[in-house]
Amino acid sequence: MRKSDKTLEKTDANEEVCDITAVLKAARFAAEKHRNQQRKGKDRTPYINHPLEVAEMIAVVGKITDTNLIIAALLHDTIEDTETKPEEIFQLFGNDVVSLVKELTDDKTLPKHIRKQRQIDNAATITSRAKILKLADKICNVSSISTNPPNNWSHERLIEYLEWSEKVVNELLGVNNELEVKFKQEMHKTRAHLLKQKINKIPE
Ligand code: ZN
Repeated sequence: MRKSDKTLEKTDANEEVCDITAVLKAARFAAEKHRNQQRKGKDRTPYINHPLEVAEMIAVVGKITDTNLIIAALLHDTIEDTETKPEEIFQLFGNDVVSLVKELTDDKTLPKHIRKQRQIDNAATITSRAKILKLADKICNVSSISTNPPNNWSHERLIEYLEWSEKVVNELLGVNNELEVKFKQEMHKTRAHLLKQKINKIPE
């Protein structure tokens, strides 16, 4: 039986409500999972601000309306940084979302330097949607290096972090121009900020 236009209209509206509900459910789930964590910076910002910022970056700067990708952005650090099991995400948000989150998840059983190299090596092989998510994640992390840098990181360590981020992002190009431009802007701003900070610290 063919649906009338009216039914279709109603279905579309319902889908929109479902999308909003799912996004809110993911935000609450992530907030709950990250409840005991804070960002590394001296501001001790609640950790949930980070996935919220990444999701907003994808929607506002990347102009992406892919609900599952926004949900995956909200959940992108839950498996890696909390006790969350992939099965939990699968049951609540489905296979597409859990696959995206897994693409963003580092293997924490590996030593840090190997994990970091893997991010560079694997970046080009992940799906386009995961690349968008990873790009937004890197933009937010690079930006926080100037706005709220991790406590006790030396100038060299901050610079190293930027260089590593750039290497990862170089493997993610071609998926979203707006986000690529934003990454370059944030990189430029953060480098200028660190340089200014270093110059001011050099005794005359
Ligand atoms: Zn992240």
